[in-house]
Amino acid sequence: MSSSARYDAIVFDLLDTLYPWGPDRYSQALDALCDTVAKACAPVTSEEVKAVYVDIRTRYSAENLSRLVENDFPAFVLELTASLGAREPGELAREGVRAYNSAFAAALELPGGVFDMLRRLSTSFNLGVLSNYPTSGGIRQALQRDGLANVLKAIVVSAEVGYIKPHPAMFRAVRGELGCPPDRVLFVGDTFESDVVGAWLAGMPCVRITPSASGVEQGQFFNGHIRKWLESQTDLKWRDAKPIVELENVAQLERWLEKLNVEG
Ligand SMILES: [Mg+2]
Repeated sequence: MSSSARYDAIVFDLLDTLYPWGPDRYSQALDALCDTVAKACAPVTSEEVKAVYVDIRTRYSAENLSRLVENDFPAFVLELTASLGAREPGELAREGVRAYNSAFAAALELPGGVFDMLRRLSTSFNLGVLSNYPTSGGIRQALQRDGLANVLKAIVVSAEVGYIKPHPAMFRAVRGELGCPPDRVLFVGDTFESDVVGAWLAGMPCVRITPSASGVEQGQFFNGHIRKWLESQTDLKWRDAKPIVELENVAQLERWLEKLNVEG
């Protein structure tokens, strides 16, 4: 039996599934944006820029994320540069987003062996990435740099869809690019609220990568909003969502798929 017997496609979450993430890596991207803006708005300091950024982000997130709508990152960076009195807020906002994306890509480091595993899997499965992130430039830069863009048939980021996982529009978007029915797509992700519940809502079997490395600040911030949405869905039995297996890291996936075939 070939390894493609049960699934036609495998879709991966990005952060803390394929690439380690966490507060330190996130800070690198945010610092690059704040430093760029501060330099143009002296004597405003980078720390002051960050405080304003966090206020704006908190307001946008409360408005959007609990409806599973992705934040408009360029819009809130523009609000940031305008509120700090930048001489050319539009130009500075674009420069800030570019700095953020480059630093984001630099903060992503693909663990050894993951590229080779994906290259082997790509001979039997259509592969995709489905990521929540309000700006996709850094993700696309990293996937290109690490050669993953060549083995992935679909790269879908919430910034470009307008919704965040677990919204079904995200899963529909990646499935549309891969062209196969949901029960033939294996979804691999680390977060219960966005990945496990999202795959379950979309009818895709799910492998959960655990434990999640990022946990702390980002995880709680975003998952809190998603949880708010979930808790308002009284007709959805989302608490029943379960992965078919939990793996400690994504490198164990290939072995698990082989075992699955042996056991039929
Ligand atoms: Mg993740």
